[in-house]
Amino acid sequence: MLVSSWPNAIAHVDADCFYASCELLRRPDMKGVPLCVLSSQDACIVAKTYDAKAAGIKTGMTVWDAKKLLPDAAFLSADFQYYGQISDKLFAILRRYSPAVEEYSIDEAFLDMKGLRSLNQKSYEQIADEIRAVVQQEVGITVSVGISVTRTLAKMASEYRKPNGTTIVTGKRINEFLQHLKVRDIPGVGENREVLLNKFSMQSAADFANASEREIKRLLGKAGTDLWHELRGTPIYPLIIQPQLPKSVSRTASMGQLTQDKAVIHSHLLRHAMRLSKELIEKRLTTRNLIVMLTLKSFEKQLLSALLSHPTADYFLLADAAGKALEEMFGLAQSYRACGLIATEIAPSRSDDFDLFQQVEKKREEKHLKLLQAMHGVNYKYGGNVLSMAAAIKPVSHRAVRFNYPLLECT
Ligand SMILES: [Mg+2]
Repeated sequence: MLVSSWPNAIAHVDADCFYASCELLRRPDMKGVPLCVLSSQDACIVAKTYDAKAAGIKTGMTVWDAKKLLPDAAFLSADFQYYGQISDKLFAILRRYSPAVEEYSIDEAFLDMKGLRSLNQKSYEQIADEIRAVVQQEVGITVSVGISVTRTLAKMASEYRKPNGTTIVTGKRINEFLQHLKVRDIPGVGENREVLLNKFSMQSAADFANASEREIKRLLGKAGTDLWHELRGTPIYPLIIQPQLPKSVSRTASMGQLTQDKAVIHSHLLRHAMRLSKELIEKRLTTRNLIVMLTLKSFEKQLLSALLSHPTADYFLLADAAGKALEEMFGLAQSYRACGLIATEIAPSRSDDFDLFQQVEKKREEKHLKLLQAMHGVNYKYGGNVLSMAAAIKPVSHRAVRFNYPLLECT
């Protein structure tokens, strides 16, 4: 096992029950009331405060079951746009402490802290405590911070004194730290692996780290030995500092048959716009430039690019831009076989994509994004495309008519 104290220094910062804390931030009157945040269809619990957790409420539980356990709790619908804004503030603070930040999830980040002690003239522990204090002061929520020599150890450290705790694990103290933890506390060890490791006399995380590499390989394969190295202080998983943004995100497809009907092409483009918007929203990305592509009968491709007023993932803006481009491109005498949309100038979605003069537009877009998230949620729950935009529904042939799906309207 590792002997030197700081061959690397990686911090893991993790907000404490993030969605619930965000809600308490704008509902201070609810402090002290157990609070549960619901999935976009209000079907199950996606986050809860510690007191709700203590009452036995678990993430993934149905609202019905949770209300039976804790009828007095407050049940709130999730508002991911709002959580995204709080998340942006959190990450902006973290970037003051290190230029190398990996945004791991909406409320978790890894920071490469090596060499930053002398810059800050503080110990790692003091830096971690300062990060917690500044986040609490400027954002109003609490985070827990772990600093250690690999990302797995840093993550285990941030978990150790939750909520609002700092845990520092130097290379020299890894073994001591791991003795306090079970194998199940190792990220990547789920129930099945736990049972297996217990069968081979590994109960604590230290038992795992002190087993032979051969034994771990035999039981868990390469995934196991990667973890084993991380737990012994040798970094295997690098920080992904620059998220690899795609150059473009596209949705193109054949229309099944040649068509000269502009309305048919338009409905295909709207469906492509919906899929494109969904993918961008899910990956928290935006596009600034939308290219509409039409393929002629001769396979010749026609492209027209439309610059959007600001970086967006909003279906309604994409659909509008695609419709306008089609008007310009469409030739009456032509037959078309395929069409599609290519989004370029991809950037991470941020809440400050708007300046002060665009506030009205921002409000409208937030409303759109909420509607779209709700719609994708329903489609996810019931499978397929139970809900879609009216104009984007594929023209149905007389054989395929069954019943009409509900249509969403948005102004
Ligand atoms: Mg968290």
